[in-house]
Amino acid sequence: MTRERLYLFDTTLRDGAQTNGVDFTLNDKLAIAKMLDELGIDYVEGGYPGANPIDTQLFAEDRQLAATFTAFGMTRRPGRSASNDPGLAALLEARADAICFVAKSWDYHVRVALETTPEENLNSIRESIRAAKSRGREVLLDCEHFFDGYKANPQFALACAEAAYREGARWIVLCDTNGGALPHEVEKIVGDVVKIIPGDHVGIHVHNDTEQAVANSLAAVRAGARQIQGTLNGLGERCGNANLVSIIPTLKLKAEFAHRFDIAVSDAQLKRLAHASHTLDEMLNRAPNRHAPYVGESAFATKAGIHASAIMKEPATYEHVPPERIGNRRKLLVSDQGGRSNVLAELDRIGIATEKDDERVTRLLEEVKRREASGYAYEAADASFELLARRMLEKVPNYFNVEKFDVNIEQRENALGQRVTVSLAVVKVKVDGGHLISAAEGNGPVNALDLALRKDLGKYQSYISGLELTDYRVRILNGGTEAVTRVLIESQDETGERWTTVGVSPNIIDASFQALMDSIVYKLMRSGAPT
Ligand SMILES: [Zn+2]
Repeated sequence: MTRERLYLFDTTLRDGAQTNGVDFTLNDKLAIAKMLDELGIDYVEGGYPGANPIDTQLFAEDRQLAATFTAFGMTRRPGRSASNDPGLAALLEARADAICFVAKSWDYHVRVALETTPEENLNSIRESIRAAKSRGREVLLDCEHFFDGYKANPQFALACAEAAYREGARWIVLCDTNGGALPHEVEKIVGDVVKIIPGDHVGIHVHNDTEQAVANSLAAVRAGARQIQGTLNGLGERCGNANLVSIIPTLKLKAEFAHRFDIAVSDAQLKRLAHASHTLDEMLNRAPNRHAPYVGESAFATKAGIHASAIMKEPATYEHVPPERIGNRRKLLVSDQGGRSNVLAELDRIGIATEKDDERVTRLLEEVKRREASGYAYEAADASFELLARRMLEKVPNYFNVEKFDVNIEQRENALGQRVTVSLAVVKVKVDGGHLISAAEGNGPVNALDLALRKDLGKYQSYISGLELTDYRVRILNGGTEAVTRVLIESQDETGERWTTVGVSPNIIDASFQALMDSIVYKLMRSGAPT
């Protein structure tokens, strides 16, 4: 059976850039465009040339993408000619393969927002498409508020779409701009549209305001649309856009879609999806969503012991797709609910060989349970678990010893007469029989301690220079007679690998110190530092 081609259009750099707190630089945009290209996305929408300096610069050069590099902008303004509209001129000047115009398709918006007539709106669509086509560009038309417009006045909404199609637009994109449509409505309305415009010219662009953007996109495909627009990690204004990171694996791995459609993303490219998703979060300085479908750290994590033993025998028992397909991995959480099979699976993953009835595994399991009862959380701290396991089952080199540390917090007036609080940490470390003393100031006591610890580790310094703390979480636990503090520290290195370590103590500095030490020792071990 020949499969139909389904196209993916990414708008992370345009619609995704509307996300609160997201501000892409030119270099960010170039890096993301390259990443999208490497993933096999068909269309990469770069932005809005003429609207801001970064987007104008982005389109000032040919960016040499395999994808169709697309510029976004408005159709010509009402009451002007196409040749006398600076916005349209900037769009036509852009070094883009395609132009995606946005136009009103809801008569209410034409009247209230544009203050013009339905006929003038249709003329603006036709003339803008004609101008772009005469410059040799592929043209797309985003029909803004299409679904709301269709509900209010189907004739007018369809007239806008049809005018664009007749004028030669390659794609007529139906937009749920306010994000309120539901899957059955999308399926019905797209079904109506494809009676007039062939489905292989119809695209879908939806927002996630009822958390159904992915479902709505798939509903549109079921009804006949053949282009899906979305963003990486569902970035976008308000509640975001349709999340391509969830849509792509669904199209590739779910039989209903995989049997009917081809997308340009290959199996090898699909394996990079988790990495791409996490890389974008890193660029935005956000911790990746652990619970993200397909790519999140917890997407294939199983906690209870009985499930874990089944998963080890037959992964499909508790997994809807194989995690490796998306570049994710199976994770069996080691926790007080888990039993021996969890620990065995985790040891297997980190590459520690054990015998079936190994006594040491029993001791490790008991130690994990004892520590978790006192506040440790190994299911969230894979690196601390690995260190504990290696210490009990193998050997972890004693790279260095911290002989003592001292942290001071001082509040005083600075030279400008402002009250400031400064922290100073001094660390005395023994490496290779020699003593090293480092001091560092930080914006808080833990920061100062971290900086002092990593300032000079003698011959190990080069192994930890790429180490960076990316997240620091503190929780006060009320267990037994006194409150204890649990600190989780997430680190990453120059290769992009991330790991989490844990420390527990009634004293927050001490808990942080434990987690910091685990992180450094883990990094030395991973890097194969000599003893
Ligand atoms: Zn949008």
